[in-house]
Amino acid sequence: MLNLDFYKNIKEELADGPTQLVAVSKTKPAAAIQALYEQGQRIFGENKVQELVDKAALLPQDIQWHLIGHLQRNKVKYIAPFVSLIHAVDSLRLLKEINKEAKKNNRIISCLLQFHIAQEDSKFGLDLAEAKALLQSEDYAQMQHIKIVGLMGMASFTDNQEQVLAEFGQLANYFQELKAAFFAQNDDFKELSMGMSGDYQLALQEGSTLVRIGSALFGHR
Ligand SMILES: *Cc1c(COP(=O)(O)O)cnc(C)c1O
Repeated sequence: MLNLDFYKNIKEELADGPTQLVAVSKTKPAAAIQALYEQGQRIFGENKVQELVDKAALLPQDIQWHLIGHLQRNKVKYIAPFVSLIHAVDSLRLLKEINKEAKKNNRIISCLLQFHIAQEDSKFGLDLAEAKALLQSEDYAQMQHIKIVGLMGMASFTDNQEQVLAEFGQLANYFQELKAAFFAQNDDFKELSMGMSGDYQLALQEGSTLVRIGSALFGHR
């Protein structure tokens, strides 16, 4: 069930700052998205390609769709025509595929590099050395149809606020370091996608520019 009080409060909280709300609508019906759209929300996030494609076909054209979940290379082609931001790029091979499909669609697709910052084991996400190697590669230098606009990460799932703050702070440090080394003259590199329903307040303290919020807005899944 849509929590309109939460929506109004968070919009007010973010009103004068640089942070945008990504409304994470995964598993929720198109009608729930439409209802939030009618309140003025335009950025929606999904974590599965098929679900994103299906919903995009049903809903208003001016929605900015973000893919926030893991993306397989063989599915890039389905979202390349319209996706507005891909949050979870974690390999050069994936970036090459996005570049290729973006070119076919005559687009430049904005992407975030996903970092592994949580203590939990995860197959997904780069470390700093891997990100640097990607950004120094000849392949990356040749890509004309992607634009890396920042970093994304997920903190550990824990009640330990100090730990979560430290993990978000770590991602913010990576952002600063990569900004200085690779994007100093590039104003497009400005996004830090971190914070979900349970920890977005902590992410805001550490400089998040994109909070990805699902259950607090749409109810439990
Ligand atoms: C589901 C999801 C979210 C939103 O999580 P909530 O706890 O429901 O706010 C954010 N980011 C990613 C990558 C997700 O998969």
